[in-house]
Amino acid sequence: MKILWAPWRMKYIKRFEDNRDSGCFFCRAVQQNRDRENLILYRGKTCFIILNKYPYNTGHLMIAPYRHAGELEKLNEEEYIELMKLTVWGVKILRKEYRPSGLNIGANIGRAAGAGVEDHLHFHLVPRWVGDTNFMPVISETKIMPELPHETYDRLKKYFEESEH
Ligand SMILES: [Zn+2]
Repeated sequence: MKILWAPWRMKYIKRFEDNRDSGCFFCRAVQQNRDRENLILYRGKTCFIILNKYPYNTGHLMIAPYRHAGELEKLNEEEYIELMKLTVWGVKILRKEYRPSGLNIGANIGRAAGAGVEDHLHFHLVPRWVGDTNFMPVISETKIMPELPHETYDRLKKYFEESEH
């Protein structure tokens, strides 16, 4: 099985997904009651944590508000505080389970900034290891996925069942 998930293919993949079923990917995942299938790790009061189905790296989390809002300044105080709390909690859990040597944290806001889902704000949390960007993605646009998203889900879920964060 050849899995293509180089970052520059994300837009193609996401566009395909968006066309397949209309509506917002995040809103749809939240509305459905299939958290493992949808890779939702944690539901907070105003925000939730979901694994990226097409990770840049193993353990790639996304933190998003339930509310369909595209810009940071549209969040209310309760939402952006919880967004940051869940981000910090995610960092702690990723450090425990995967021991990354670094992390990328951030949001792509607007299509010009590279947002795949541009009208529903989400923060990316990507664990990094020294040497994880080798020549493979550059040369062949192919990268071997070290762990399948559902394996990652099962490894991380136990931490999110502990309520403290
Ligand atoms: Zn949405």
